[in-house]
Amino acid sequence: MRYLLIFAVIALLAWRWRASRPERKSASAPKQNGQPMAMIPCHQCGVHLPAQDAVEGKLGSYCCQDHRRQAEP
Ligand SMILES: [Zn+2]
Repeated sequence: MRYLLIFAVIALLAWRWRASRPERKSASAPKQNGQPMAMIPCHQCGVHLPAQDAVEGKLGSYCCQDHRRQAEP
């Protein structure tokens, strides 16, 4: 009976480990579940990008450092 309990715990841990693996894999891909990602346009070229990836400048947000330098010399 004790071995059955130990086996059940190991099986549960293995199942949880397997269940957490694809979740971690999809985290690198664009997030679809969870809160919607705020998209903001680049002040220079107008491309929309996630707010967390934007480069903050004096005049606005940019998609990259190069566009920030072009708009704000
Ligand atoms: Zn840009």
